[in-house]
Amino acid sequence: MVSLEGVGKSFGANRVLSDINLSVESGEVVVVIGPSGSGKSTMCRCINRLETIDEGRILFEGRPLPAEGRELARMRARVGMVFQSFNLFAHRTILDNLTLGPVTVLGRKRSQAEERARELLERVGIADKADQLPRQLSGGQQQRAAIARALAMDPVLMLFDEPTSALDPEMISEVLDVMRALASSGMTMIVVTHEMGFARSAADRVAFMADGRIVETAPPATFFDAPTSERARDFLGRVL
Ligand code: ATP
Ligand code: MG
Repeated sequence: MVSLEGVGKSFGANRVLSDINLSVESGEVVVVIGPSGSGKSTMCRCINRLETIDEGRILFEGRPLPAEGRELARMRARVGMVFQSFNLFAHRTILDNLTLGPVTVLGRKRSQAEERARELLERVGIADKADQLPRQLSGGQQQRAAIARALAMDPVLMLFDEPTSALDPEMISEVLDVMRALASSGMTMIVVTHEMGFARSAADRVAFMADGRIVETAPPATFFDAPTSERARDFLGRVL
């Protein structure tokens, strides 16, 4: 689905990604963990070309990422992204948030987009919020709406960058449950998170990053029970 080959990136003199090699197959769930500043968000942003890379290449569905224009827009439409902050359109209803992209970008009929939007709201457990504004929802509900909005574009890949970090503890599990269901449904996912329970239960593989490198990649059972690198052991010692 997507592969990064020898990817390197610097911000000025600050080298934030070095020789990143990661291949994510269709249907696979890869959870990315690692200390603050290790380059997790930057790597995600490079995958849908919100950042450009200095070295290596990124292939999406077998082809290099388009540099610009309609090709890039088409590629981005196939990749859903969910951030820490919910980024819903504040002055639009939840339903409108879900139909805007499909209608304007994909050219769907409004009625068709609405039908699909209501299905997705049902799936993330907030069907009753369709006509509300984002601020009328709790943080967990807003994040579930953001996930539903991303899914409304029928993405083939979902990128999550710390989707639960801004949430109160009691709302974290409702978002993780939605993500777990999505993972079980066969969606290809790259998830940056500090939720180790989620990594353990939902990941096919865990990629551990430190200092701009992927230090270790392993199935969760292997990674959590027998990490091979000193950096990973140290990190797990602090977070578990
Ligand atoms: P966190 O867990 O805190 O979210 P992270 O692993 O996501 O951290 P990044 O946000 O990718 O880390 O940042 C990696 C490095 O790149 C940091 O040193 C950061 O300061 C730097 N960086 C990120 N974005 C920019 C930018 N737009 N301009 C300059 N430096 C940046
Ligand atoms: Mg980050």
